[in-house]
Amino acid sequence: MKYKTQQEGEGACLECGTVFYGRKDKQFCNASCKNKWHNRLLRERRKYRMETFAALTRNYGILEGLLKENRQSAGLAELSELGFDPDCVTGYRKGRYRHDEYSCFDISYCRSPSKVFNVRRKASGGR
Ligand SMILES: [Zn+2]
Repeated sequence: MKYKTQQEGEGACLECGTVFYGRKDKQFCNASCKNKWHNRLLRERRKYRMETFAALTRNYGILEGLLKENRQSAGLAELSELGFDPDCVTGYRKGRYRHDEYSCFDISYCRSPSKVFNVRRKASGGR
C-alpha cells in the first residue's frame, strides 16, 4: 500500500542539465550542482549591486562637480558623456506642482527629457 502522495517524475538539473528521476519539485541532480547554481546566483546579485553602486557613485561625483562650479543645471547629453546614468537614483518624489524630484544621496535635482536642473544639496535638517 502506498501512503506517500509525493509526486515523482523526470526532471532536468538546473545546473548541468542531467535528466534524473525523483520528486517533482527536485531541481538539481546533486548537492554540488545545487551549490554551484546558488553560488552563481549570489555572485550575479552581488555583481548587480556593485555595478549599481558604482553608477550611483559616478552620478554623485558628476552632480558634485556641477555644484562645485556653481551650476544648477546641465544638459543630459553633456552629463551622459561624463558617464551619468539617469536610471540610477537613490530617491524619487512626485512633484507637488510640476517637476518630479530625484535624488542621489544628499543631492537632489529635477529632470526634463533633455536636462537636469535645480541641482542642489539637500538641506541637512530644517528645509
Ligand atoms: Zn547537475
